[in-house]
Amino acid sequence: MSRVIVITGPSGVGKGTLIRLLREQVPELGLSVSATTRAPRPGEADGVEYHFLSEDEFVEHIAHGDFVEHAQYAGRRYGTLRAELERRASSGEPVALEIEVQGARQIRDAIPGALLIFIAPPSREALRERLVGRGTDDAEVVERRLAVAEEELAAAGEFAKVIVNDRLEDAVRDLVSVVRRGLAHPID
Ligand code: ADP
Ligand code: 5GP
Repeated sequence: MSRVIVITGPSGVGKGTLIRLLREQVPELGLSVSATTRAPRPGEADGVEYHFLSEDEFVEHIAHGDFVEHAQYAGRRYGTLRAELERRASSGEPVALEIEVQGARQIRDAIPGALLIFIAPPSREALRERLVGRGTDDAEVVERRLAVAEEELAAAGEFAKVIVNDRLEDAVRDLVSVVRRGLAHPID
C-alpha cells in the first residue's frame, strides 16, 4: 500500500498552494481527485480539480460503500473515492489527500499508517484576508467557511504535525521536510 499523506486545515489557509509547491519538490507524490456536490468554479474541470457529482450520485456512492471518507462541509458533500485512491496507490507512489478535518479523522481511523498534517493560519485575520483575497467565494460562503474554521482550528492538536502557513517559503520548506521524513520513516 502506498503511503497516504493527509493535508488538512481550514479553507483559505493555503493547502492547495502548499501542495502544488510541495509536489514540485516531491514529484513522485500523487494527488487524489476528490468527489464533491459543489458547483465547479470558473476554470475547474470535471475529473481534474474534482469529480463533480449530483447529490443523488454522491448518495448512491455512499450507499455502495464507495468512499474511504466523506463529509458535509458548508452545506456541500466532499469525499475520497476508494477506486480513486486505489488506482493511485497501485503505482506504489505516495498519494496526498487535501481534505477537511472530519475526513482527516476518518482517514486516521481507516489507514493507520497515514501521515496527517494540519496547516494553520498565522491569525484569524490572515485567514479571512486570504479567503476574501482568493476571490472564489461570495461573502455568504466566506462567512460560512470562517464559521467552520473555528471548529477546525480547535482540532489542530489532534494531528501529528502542525505547520503554520505564515511566510509561504517557510511553510513550504517545513512541509517538504515533514513529508520527506515521513516517507523515509513509514511508521512515525
Ligand atoms: P486552501 O486550499 O487551503 O483553501 P489556497 O491555497 O486556495 O487555500 O489559498 C488561499 C489564498 O491564500 C490564495 O489566494 C493563496 O494565494 C493565498 N495564500 C496561500 N498561502 C499564503 C501565504 N503564506 N501568505 C499569503 N497568502 C497566501
Ligand atoms: P473547496 O470547496 O474550497 O474546494 O473545498 C472545501 C473544503 O473541502 C476544503 O477544506 C477541502 O480541503 C475539503 N475537501 C476537498 N476534497 C475533500 C474530500 O474528498 N473529503 C473531505 N472530507 N474534504 C474535502
